[in-house]
Amino acid sequence: MKRLVVPLLAIAAWLLPYGLDPYAIHVVDVAIIFALLGIGLGLVMGVAGQINLAQVAFFGIGAYTCAILTTRAGLGFWVAAALAVLAAVAIGLVVSIPALRVQSHYLGIVTLGLALAFINWTTNAALAGKSEGISDLPVPPLFGVDLSSEYLFYYVEIVVFAIALAFALFVVRSPLGRRMRAMRDDSLAAGALGAEIPLLRITAFVLSGLYGGVAGVLYAGLIRYIAPETFSIANMFLLLAMVIIGGRQSIVGCVIGAVALSLIREVLVDFSVYAQLGYGTVVVLMVVFAPTGLAGLPVRLRARLRGRTGGDRRGPAELRPFTPYGEAPSGDPTGVVLEIRAVGMRFKGLRALDDVSLEVGAGEIRGVVGPNGSGKTTLFNIISGFYTASSGRVVLRGTDVTGAAPYRLAQLGVARTFQNLRLFGDLTVRENVLVALDRTRTSWIWRYVALPWTVVRQDRALSAQADELLDRYGLTDFAGARPQSLPYGIQRRIEIARAMAMSPRLLLLDEPAAGLNGEEVRLLGEMVRSLRDSGVTVVIIEHNMGLVMSLCDQVTVLSSGRVIADGPPAAVAVVPEVIEAYLGDSTYMSHESQDTTSRDATSQDTTSQDTTEAAR
Ligand code: ADP
Ligand code: MG
Repeated sequence: MKRLVVPLLAIAAWLLPYGLDPYAIHVVDVAIIFALLGIGLGLVMGVAGQINLAQVAFFGIGAYTCAILTTRAGLGFWVAAALAVLAAVAIGLVVSIPALRVQSHYLGIVTLGLALAFINWTTNAALAGKSEGISDLPVPPLFGVDLSSEYLFYYVEIVVFAIALAFALFVVRSPLGRRMRAMRDDSLAAGALGAEIPLLRITAFVLSGLYGGVAGVLYAGLIRYIAPETFSIANMFLLLAMVIIGGRQSIVGCVIGAVALSLIREVLVDFSVYAQLGYGTVVVLMVVFAPTGLAGLPVRLRARLRGRTGGDRRGPAELRPFTPYGEAPSGDPTGVVLEIRAVGMRFKGLRALDDVSLEVGAGEIRGVVGPNGSGKTTLFNIISGFYTASSGRVVLRGTDVTGAAPYRLAQLGVARTFQNLRLFGDLTVRENVLVALDRTRTSWIWRYVALPWTVVRQDRALSAQADELLDRYGLTDFAGARPQSLPYGIQRRIEIARAMAMSPRLLLLDEPAAGLNGEEVRLLGEMVRSLRDSGVTVVIIEHNMGLVMSLCDQVTVLSSGRVIADGPPAAVAVVPEVIEAYLGDSTYMSHESQDTTSRDATSQDTTSQDTTEAAR
């Protein structure tokens, strides 16, 4: 059945013009152009999570460049078209620069400003024909086919559209699309897994520039007259409505939304004021009641039906045992993997870390303990590149990495988990692991255009690795589930599996036993020991003293941002300052007992930390 969809759609698209009058075919031609714009906006906003209100400007740059080059510079249509698409891509690149600094509504404001600047330019520049626009564009030549006929132009459009849609679907399903979705969900966690966030954001805007440019060129060829009002903010909002109503996370949804709204707009053309109000209302209703848009409705309906019949609801499945890794081929068991040299960290007035120094040797399990607020997580944030130390250096296997970006450190073999679990909620467990397994650099993306089959091959190899890894960690049963639907202990294990998918040399675990029951803690201990035996150096922040004492080779004790003791567990436990620090902090003692009993309390008291980590 599914196999027939594409051929049937192709036949329908081929036959469509035969049933349409000249006005209707014009409407369809315009709708296809909006669908292209919708795909571009869906990629940048829905998939990559970058708010982009300049899509209409990319469209305009494509159309205006084409118009100016053909009418004023006398270039042929297709040469001008190619340059116009390049221009739109270049503008996409420029618009991506603010996205490297600001996000969410700030990015919305900046991109809106750029769109307004473009409209301003078109209405005031003589080159762009001011408010009258540019008319008399040449008819695009095509081997003697008369493209001034809107029927024939339709076929050009539909071929371009099919290629554009196929490419977008390919990108979304590829490792690149998966990384973009991971970035949309949690850019910090994605960075810690090695995703080059800045390059990914640029890529997203370049893609939307590409789709905008292609749409602009088609518009210039179809209408052969362009004026500023086509690229107005009102049309930007119409575009936004198309994508939101259709379902921005689904490319097909964006196309459906664009086509549907283009047709509705034609029907309501005599009532344009009411129509605007109507779009606004529908958008608000969609955002509130169906945030996944029309494309998400089937899934929601299915979930609703299933909920009502009560079927297919599995109880919390058993966590299968973990298959230990083999011993590492004895490589370099000596040597220092991580060196923290006199690191200090200040947050405004607060001194979170003060002159902290420590050395972690290869193949060691290092415990970091200390009362709440003593700076343990801050230390991890510095080692993994989330924060830059105010003073001091971080040295990784002899290389100074102070101030390096998270993705750089991930590439250098640092993996971490988070005190508050940062799994990608919109990705399945399998996809979470796949994001970490993918070690290709973003610069590899030229292959998406030049050698797409190598991308497919690589993705297949990754899939096989993911299955193996999930099996090793006893997570195969949960591969298709969303992490949030799973019990806490399983989520913790998924995070470790995801970190290990990066094949790290240094693994940082931030309170991995928090919220686990006794048996789960025991399994965790075994797992960590096996990871160490396989050649990974582990630093573990933990409140569970039993686990720390039995697991760690060395323990560093922090109190109020300072190292107060450092050494083998038995030696550290009897240091007077340590005893004092612990006895002086009654909350710490109660916290320890809470960890194993109350999961909810643990996950709640960590939410405030989420915001501090995300605030960066
Ligand atoms: P621990 O992990 O040992 O419980 P943290 O490293 O999370 O402690 O925090 C140490 C101190 O630094 C706390 O007082 C905390 O409030 C503060 N802190 C951590 N991150 C930030 C931040 N981004 N901004 C301001 N203060 C912070
Ligand atoms: Mg902490």
